[in-house]
Amino acid sequence: MEKIKMATPLVEMDGDEMTRILWQIIKDELLNPFIELNTEYYDLGLEYRNETNDQVTVDSAEATKKYGVAVKCATITPNGARMKEYSLKEMWKSPNGTIRAILDGTVFRAPIVVKGIEPCVKNWKKPITIARHAYGDVYKGSEMKIPGAGRAEIVFTALDGSETRELIHEFQSTGIVQGMHNLNDSIESFARSCFKFALDTKQDLWFATKDTISKKYDHTFKDIFQEIYDAEYDKAFREAGIEYFYTLIDDAVARVMKSEGGYIWACKNYDGDVMSDMISSAFGSLAMMTSVLVSPDGYYEYEAAHGTVQRHYYKHLKGEETSTNSVATIFAWTGALRKRGEMDHNQALSDFADKLEAASIKTIEAGKMTKDLALITTIENPVVLNSEDFIKAIRTTLEEML
Ligand code: NAD
Repeated sequence: MEKIKMATPLVEMDGDEMTRILWQIIKDELLNPFIELNTEYYDLGLEYRNETNDQVTVDSAEATKKYGVAVKCATITPNGARMKEYSLKEMWKSPNGTIRAILDGTVFRAPIVVKGIEPCVKNWKKPITIARHAYGDVYKGSEMKIPGAGRAEIVFTALDGSETRELIHEFQSTGIVQGMHNLNDSIESFARSCFKFALDTKQDLWFATKDTISKKYDHTFKDIFQEIYDAEYDKAFREAGIEYFYTLIDDAVARVMKSEGGYIWACKNYDGDVMSDMISSAFGSLAMMTSVLVSPDGYYEYEAAHGTVQRHYYKHLKGEETSTNSVATIFAWTGALRKRGEMDHNQALSDFADKLEAASIKTIEAGKMTKDLALITTIENPVVLNSEDFIKAIRTTLEEML
């Protein structure tokens, strides 16, 4: 069989620990035998980030702007322990944070749904994708402990020195206050990324805030979404047969629980933080969650939602067998290859991505899986495979399908 060709390179961002090991096996077993893989390689492994003073992370994000599509392996975000372990020059920032700051995107996380790994919520039949606004609110808040009686106010001082004040509370005794902000620009980018992704994936878009209580703050989110929808996306949504739906956050939560899934749920920063963990745990496993950063300018960066699976890596270093789930990392590759195929009108490449996803799902549904899934599956007598054999089993399924 002739290998599939690629006209434009994918930006390949390699990573750390166990996921770095899986990365290479995936390329050897599932990609290189079938595709003339054309990538521009950036090593985001912590050692090379340290060697380049993290310049490699910036370069990889710039390359994503140039080519449009990237695929990223999980990476270590350094902390005190990692400083020692890797003798780092500095506690480098999270690569995901750096890349997101350069591409200005929104992260969409979706579970991979497989028969035999049943969601806790019985009526969820299709994935629920969470879009989390990744700027501002309580994450960039200022807080104060109030020591006793007194007045707390919000004060805005304009450049001309004029002041606008709003009373928060007349304290009679001790308490707490919090101030937070957001930016219209950032909310607009968030809205555009959500509308774009809904059109891309042909799914309805839900958005919810608490605008009845927060009449200026949350209401601004609601208004910006509606204005952009009406001006830029209404026609395209109707042509695609999908819907934009706004409701209150409490109503949204109630509807989500009763729904069968199959839509994108856009969340403010805090809501998205909480709800994405609820969704991933309710759908079964962090190892089955995909993640894609979509910029309002139309750049895409695909990855797995999980980290580097450090515990398995240390076992691997000791020569012990591991059974690490590679599905989300495989889907990061297929997501990126499919998008590259769409952009380059390379149908063979997009079709291959579809088949590799189908082969991964079929392998699990046939009872062959890694340990994390074997612990939660409803399939009887699952065959537990090690990290490498699981990927090889997917290859066998894929070859049968091709
Ligand atoms: P983790 O996602 O690696 O692991 C969390 C838990 O889930 C562990 O118990 C792990 O065994 C299990 N798990 C996760 N993925 C799995 C898989 N594919 N197969 C089987 N089990 C799996 O998160 P962590 O342990 O908190 O962090 C480890 C490292 O990953 C840290 O250095 C952190 O900075 C980094 N991290 C990176 C990203 C990213 O690059 N997007 C995200 C989160 C964490």
